[in-house]
Amino acid sequence: MEPANIANRITPSLTLAIDSKAKALKAEGKDICGFGAGEPDFDTPDHIKLAAAQALAEGFTKYTPSSGIPELRQAIAEKLKNENGVDYKPGQVIVSCGGKHSCYNAILATCNPGDEVIIPAPYWVSYPEMVKMVGAEPYIVPTKAENGYKLTPEELQNAISPSSKLLILNSPNNPTGSVYSENEIAALAEIAIEDDLFILSDEIYEKIVYDGARHFSPASISKQVYDRTITVNGLSKSYAMTGWRLGYLAAPEPIAKAIDSIQSHATSNPTSFAQKGAVAALKESQECVKEMVRAFAERRDFIFDGLTSIAGIRCLKPMGAFYILADISSFGMTSSQFCESLLDQALVAAVPGIAFGDDRVIRLSYACGKENIEKGLSRIQDFCARLRK
Ligand SMILES: *Cc1c(COP(=O)(O)O)cnc(C)c1O
Repeated sequence: MEPANIANRITPSLTLAIDSKAKALKAEGKDICGFGAGEPDFDTPDHIKLAAAQALAEGFTKYTPSSGIPELRQAIAEKLKNENGVDYKPGQVIVSCGGKHSCYNAILATCNPGDEVIIPAPYWVSYPEMVKMVGAEPYIVPTKAENGYKLTPEELQNAISPSSKLLILNSPNNPTGSVYSENEIAALAEIAIEDDLFILSDEIYEKIVYDGARHFSPASISKQVYDRTITVNGLSKSYAMTGWRLGYLAAPEPIAKAIDSIQSHATSNPTSFAQKGAVAALKESQECVKEMVRAFAERRDFIFDGLTSIAGIRCLKPMGAFYILADISSFGMTSSQFCESLLDQALVAAVPGIAFGDDRVIRLSYACGKENIEKGLSRIQDFCARLRK
């Protein structure tokens, strides 16, 4: 018996190979500097844990409505109104098992088999695979470092075909750290209207921005954009809640209704007591978020200064999220070769850019302690110096 064709169409996560090797070396007692993590190193703030623990103690342990408890959908609708300037009724909000699940639901509810989905590269690893999982076709558009790794209106225009159905935008971006301005988003949205594309706006890093950069939600532009946009967000990155598995989306009514129905058959509700934690995260003090962002900002400056001082490496300063891309193309190696040698010879774990659709770069996450960054930078410096000899 053979698995279905989908098994051959999906690429197993390339990041995993390096990650498991790094873990194996660590288990052998090797002192590895890890920059692979795709999650905050902070623990979930106590008041959020407490709210979930209390819900658990009170027996809040049964099925909830499959798209989330009314209290949480209400809190999300209020957040989207107050912070993002977008009006959604609680019924248009679907709470899912992570932002990843919300992205998948959004693609499932907008794309038919054969439809094309436009994905700017470097991209988050899961987008093209999710697109393939629903039988649609990823159409990858490389962006340029000189444009801040942001998709330009011309690049979007050239990518559009009669089969184009959906544009995926992710700002602040994983892995590039770029943040689209209001004008940049508006220019892309205009093309989406002309060519009748849906927009999936993945806003999971919205709160993690630096130097006064501001996150902007496409759905807030106009009724026309709102009607074709699915706004995805979640708790994982902003509140250090990756293991809780809570994300959400908000969409025009017909799309929300379709997703409500899909989810009711696929997973039912996200974990009941975790949802109570999410209510606390959204409604109580936001000071914890500010504190984490302050720490990320300090590390960003530190890693950017360190990397750019290494001969042969070029970087753009990230404006959001907690990743930095280092262009290592001057060393004449593929990103996988570079990362493999870096791990073998310098005990530093980073993610090869090929996983994000750009073989000239590697990704380092700075959601880690400053000592790790300091030690790692000095090892990368020595490694690169040896390569140049
Ligand atoms: C982490 C991440 C998500 C979703 O994470 P969840 O843990 O599933 O909420 C979505 N998009 C991007 C770009 C991410 O980096």
